[in-house]
Amino acid sequence: MKADPAAQVRLLDLQAADTELAQLAHRRAHLPELVALAASDEQVGELRSDALELQSQLDEIADDQRRLENEVDTVQTRAKRDDQRLTAGGLPSKELEGLQHEIATLARRQSTLEDDLLDVMERRETLDGELAALGQRQDALLAERADQEANRDAAFIEIDATAQRRTAERSAVAGEIAADLLALYDKIRASSGGVGAAMLRHRRCEGCHLELAGSELNTVRAAAPDAVVRCENCRRILVRTAESGL
Ligand SMILES: [Zn+2]
Repeated sequence: MKADPAAQVRLLDLQAADTELAQLAHRRAHLPELVALAASDEQVGELRSDALELQSQLDEIADDQRRLENEVDTVQTRAKRDDQRLTAGGLPSKELEGLQHEIATLARRQSTLEDDLLDVMERRETLDGELAALGQRQDALLAERADQEANRDAAFIEIDATAQRRTAERSAVAGEIAADLLALYDKIRASSGGVGAAMLRHRRCEGCHLELAGSELNTVRAAAPDAVVRCENCRRILVRTAESGL
């Protein structure tokens, strides 16, 4: 392939723009803000699941409390009825004994139920406190997450603006390069880690960093200025400049 030597040198500007665009895309995809956001999302998810777990424990405890309160009511109603029967008097002694025994049993039962109720209420209070603390942690985390999101967006805006500028510059440079040379450059760039053209500096290919010697060096030395020369090792377009050391 033949190409205007000036256009070949312009390939280096095109390469610089493409390299920077690739770096910008990499930076955009690997922002520390994205890592921080992912970590925050994970923490928010954990807190949410902890809160759900606490809430379900609280629901169970509320059920327990209702059940105990109902039982206390039942026991109290029964004890009141027994008391009334006792106060009314006139019971045969065997029945009286049975009634007194039941009243004593009900009193013990009420005392046990009230102790249980107290335990349940204490536990409920503890869990309510834990849930409130969890809510506070969640609020703080969400505020932090909002900051991280704002930082990410600011970084995106900066990167995108630079990329937009570099893309426009790249288009302008590409417009100066013949279509066949540009197509070759793009093809090599796609298959060679984003580098399609490399300067030959001090007889070294800047694409693969190997030094040219022997017959390859002689071939490059003998090549016409408008010949498109490729590195024998990495197959990239070798751009000759005053620094090539030929
Ligand atoms: Zn090379």
